[in-house]
Amino acid sequence: MEKDLIALKKSELALGGPVRLPEGYLLPCRLSRSTAGPGAGSAGAVFSFEGTRVKKAVRYDSGDFELHDRDGTLSLTKGGEPFLDRVTIEPVVYHSPEQAFFNLDQRCIYHCAFCASPRLGKDATKNLTDEKIVTMVRKALDDGMTVNAISLTSGVVGSPRETVDRFVSCIKALNKEFPGIPIGIEPYASSEEDIIRLKEAGATEIKLNIESPSREIFAKVCPELEYDGILDRLSDSVKVFGKGNVQSNMIYGMGETDEDVLSMVETLCSMGVIPILRALRIGEHSRESLESAIGTTSPVTPQRSVFLVSEQKKIMERHGLSSAGCRTMCNRCGCCDLVPFKDV
Ligand code: SF4
Ligand code: SF4
Repeated sequence: MEKDLIALKKSELALGGPVRLPEGYLLPCRLSRSTAGPGAGSAGAVFSFEGTRVKKAVRYDSGDFELHDRDGTLSLTKGGEPFLDRVTIEPVVYHSPEQAFFNLDQRCIYHCAFCASPRLGKDATKNLTDEKIVTMVRKALDDGMTVNAISLTSGVVGSPRETVDRFVSCIKALNKEFPGIPIGIEPYASSEEDIIRLKEAGATEIKLNIESPSREIFAKVCPELEYDGILDRLSDSVKVFGKGNVQSNMIYGMGETDEDVLSMVETLCSMGVIPILRALRIGEHSRESLESAIGTTSPVTPQRSVFLVSEQKKIMERHGLSSAGCRTMCNRCGCCDLVPFKDV
């Protein structure tokens, strides 16, 4: 299959609804129950095809796509029409294939309209302690799983400073136990000092999310966060972690223009930050809050995703940045969105 067509298919699969499993079909590996990211709140499986992969919610009763198993050969149809002739189901370590990705705490003192994490049940992150996380990674390795990276995210619990303390302690515990495995972190840092502490604890890469390319939309969906503060901390992060080791998620599909997206891609790249374009997915946990913040929006199309990520790649090339070398988190995983330099 041509690379352009693979990118379009990946996008179509990633943006569409669940995969319906054949009646009584047992997945060859356990389901991933996400508490963060586009799949938060649903049970998913990772479908691989043509060198790329997508994590999808799976169900037995309905779905936009249907899985078929013919003597062990798996394929997908979409609304009954052929979609992918051959797929395989990849195991996840924790949340992600070949990666142990933990949400330290899904609770959050903030209320971003698109974020499902704080709206999940109280025990969604299973009271993860540093010891429990170390034990879980050890078990995955002992079970023979490939663990190329460890990544940590968290809501903000108590205060940004207390949450950074939590990250620091967990990074130190993981680094001591698994010194060769890179650690990616997605904290909400509020000072340069926080960022230095996270780096000194042993983090390899950091992701601080700008969330929207438009200040106006950001003010509506993240009313308690500070846009300029995030840009300042991104700049601090490049100083501390180095160019190309800092990433930032930007959600599109909330009413911004393509020009808004590409202009923010340019801004981030000129700072040495790798942008991650994340198409808005509206789930049952975020529909109401999003609609009251920004009204109803048109769904992101696969064509728009391919266009934006193709343009993103050109801008990144001009700034000497690539997503292909990212060692942790979403760019390494690639299950939810197109990754420039890999898919496009
Ligand atoms: S800061 Fe916003 S996006 Fe991050 S966990 Fe809290 S509510 Fe979600
Ligand atoms: S791309 Fe990111 S949010 Fe999606 S499954 Fe992978 S690590 Fe999780």
